[in-house]
Amino acid sequence: MTDQKADLALIGLAVMGQNLILNMNDHGFVVCAYNRTVTKVEQFLANEAKGTKIIGAKSLEDMVQKLKKPRKVMLLVKAGSAVDEFVKNLIPLLEKGDIIIDGGNSQYLDTQRWCKELEPTGIHYIGMGVSGGEDGARYGPSLMPGGHPAAWPHVKPIFQAISAKANNEPCCDWVGDGGAGHFVKMVHNGIEYGDMQLICEVYHLMKDVLGMTQDDMAVVFEDWNKGELDSFLIEITRDILKFKDDDGKFLLPKIRDSAGQKGTGKWTGISALEYGVPVTLIGEAVFARCLSALKDERVKASRTLPGSTEKFTGDKKQFLDHLRKALYASKLISYAQGFMLLREAAKVHSWNLNYGSIALMWRGGCIIRSVFLGNIKDAYTKNPQLSNLLLDPYFSERISACQGSLRQVVATAALQGVPAPTLSSALSFYDGYRSDVLPANLLQAQRDYFGAHTYELLSKPGQYVHTNWTGHG
Ligand code: NAP
Repeated sequence: MTDQKADLALIGLAVMGQNLILNMNDHGFVVCAYNRTVTKVEQFLANEAKGTKIIGAKSLEDMVQKLKKPRKVMLLVKAGSAVDEFVKNLIPLLEKGDIIIDGGNSQYLDTQRWCKELEPTGIHYIGMGVSGGEDGARYGPSLMPGGHPAAWPHVKPIFQAISAKANNEPCCDWVGDGGAGHFVKMVHNGIEYGDMQLICEVYHLMKDVLGMTQDDMAVVFEDWNKGELDSFLIEITRDILKFKDDDGKFLLPKIRDSAGQKGTGKWTGISALEYGVPVTLIGEAVFARCLSALKDERVKASRTLPGSTEKFTGDKKQFLDHLRKALYASKLISYAQGFMLLREAAKVHSWNLNYGSIALMWRGGCIIRSVFLGNIKDAYTKNPQLSNLLLDPYFSERISACQGSLRQVVATAALQGVPAPTLSSALSFYDGYRSDVLPANLLQAQRDYFGAHTYELLSKPGQYVHTNWTGHG
């Protein structure tokens, strides 16, 4: 079918690209495949794409000629210089109204830059977050497109068709201008870091405080997955806990406790610092991975530094219930922080973000998919102006019911010497956020004392004064 024009070209035939092409083919779209190493195109057509409507290209020029207008070219290549190279090479081959879509894990500021640079050419740029790993790409990912809004109607039918569905609604909608799509994907990944670390801490407490067996833990996770914690990450944790190696023993304890990272959690933390938003839980989740990576140092320190000698004497069943509620409360606090970051970035960049639709995009197809995101969608649908998730009536009621358990868990972890950085930071944030008075009055006084930074008097709002604290000239 060499004379058939393709609906879209996709560059990048690694796992994500190949699977997205096959997914688009399943939904009736004709895709033209291309890759820097061109031999991979032939291999793909002869193997995975055999018997499909997928066509291939030998060069970028060849690829562009095989496309319907406006041409849509999607990149699924390594973020950074590979994206830059391809965009630069595509510009002279495309015309006004054509669309470039970057579906990789690019930094949102790179996407902002390309949107701006392409403006004079009339070529539209989309930066689209793609989540769900290889399985998601093949059978229904969560897709978060943002960039030039004029491009959206042209790609909407393709992306909404191939995306995951939650309650029959596509987990794909227009996010906003410029780098909004990639920013939302970055925050999604940060939240994923937080969710994973929270579950790890709960596992640690089950293991070292309650002394539970893996089989018993698996039963608890199975049970939790039937309620308000129902989510992909709880489900896979249950499966991991149950998994036995070839020798019949559990695989999990044999895995080196030193975590890696690719950087998107770190970017969320950096953005939080840049925008001045207290996204403490994700920050702690990133640092927990950093601490875990210091394996050799930790092994040495474990021989020298004392911990706690306390033994758990409480009711195990009751503590398990506290753990479930603490996990729920912390998760809620983490999402509240993530949406606070989205709100602040939206203000700075004038993105008109629809928070309910973002929750729906994350509801299915991606790693953080959960029933809980359906509740978040409902909260923003009821009140699109909601200033903070914790203040939504449903979630206020839930956090009121769970905060006592979070205190029990954090206190027990501290007394038993089990690290619980994300659970603890969730509680500290909660107590800070609900405090009408914080000790920042003293901080302001200190700043004024040593640096004459001035402070504002409660009795005279807007007036900044300096005090000579030492009485010296
Ligand atoms: P990848 O390993 O990140 O990238 C491989 C692709 O990039 C190949 O097509 C490769 O071409 C091309 N490439 C690498 N360096 C290049 C360069 N300097 N110039 C031109 N092309 C270059 O592939 P992936 O895992 O499928 O991911 C693709 C994108 O999706 C990435 O941005 C990734 O972060 C993102 N993503 C991945 C996942 C996942 O689960 N894997 C999930 C969501 C998003 P050659 O074949 O010629 O080397």
